Amino acid sequence: MADLMKGKRGLVMGVANERSIAWGIAAALAAEGAELAFSYQGEAFGKRVEPLAASVGSDFLVDVDVTDDESLSACFGALKDRWGTMDFLVHAIAFSDKNELTGRFVNTSRANFKHSLDISCYSFIDVARRASELMPEGGSLITLTYGGSNRVTPNYNVMGVAKAALESATRYLANDLGPQKIRVNAISPGPMKTLAGAAIGGARATFRHTEANAPLRANATLEAIGGTAVYLCSDYGACTTGEVIRVDGGYHVLGMPQGENI
Ligand code: NAD
Repeated sequence: MADLMKGKRGLVMGVANERSIAWGIAAALAAEGAELAFSYQGEAFGKRVEPLAASVGSDFLVDVDVTDDESLSACFGALKDRWGTMDFLVHAIAFSDKNELTGRFVNTSRANFKHSLDISCYSFIDVARRASELMPEGGSLITLTYGGSNRVTPNYNVMGVAKAALESATRYLANDLGPQKIRVNAISPGPMKTLAGAAIGGARATFRHTEANAPLRANATLEAIGGTAVYLCSDYGACTTGEVIRVDGGYHVLGMPQGENI
């Protein structure tokens, strides 16, 4: 490895276990020399995240529920106390009631719409503002989205709308924070076998379909997503902001599935 992240410190939000996209990103950033803090949601996840964090030399863990302002204030207070400043933040957090990640989108409830958009979109705006206050020299903010934001994917439903809002928020944040040299980008992987991924109806079929039809005939890997995050957080990404970068084997370029003879 090339020490691309040496001297840079940041918070990774959203590791639930070793399959989490946030963990793939954390491992790649750490391999390039980054110093990491982790936020996790609740004690049960904390127990799983602790050994993962330790494996990349971090004992800096904070319990955060992004719907709870107090826990967010405590998290960013801890970052300020321990580091003073930070260089990057990874937001890999989304949630919807599982019952509404199947069936017809038209049945989306008001309560789940609000809750899903709050956790899956507003939280990025919230942490971007808080992190920007600790980035006097500039920095890099990353969130995670999915192609169901602009193309209908069966069962993705309200999460597609939340991701469309998140991608739009990425562009608005990029414009607001650009003068402070803070870059804001989204990574859009294809389907991954994670806890959140498994909550979506027909997840296995989507995984197999993407693998069979993507130009590369492969789904994304944690390593490839991690590598993209390294690019965006390192100085090599210095002129990239407001982007949605696909890491989906090229699936998004298709107009129709591959024919049987191809
Ligand atoms: P994951 O289940 O490993 O991670 C989701 C994380 O969100 C968990 O750590 C969970 O604790 C956290 N979270 C949910 N509600 C929260 C709250 N109120 N406060 C704090 N944390 C909360 O699954 P993942 O697939 O790694 O998801 C990470 C991101 O990647 C999500 O934004 C997801 O939409 C996105 N994504 C996933 C896929 C996929 O197929 N799995 C594809 C593209 C994008």
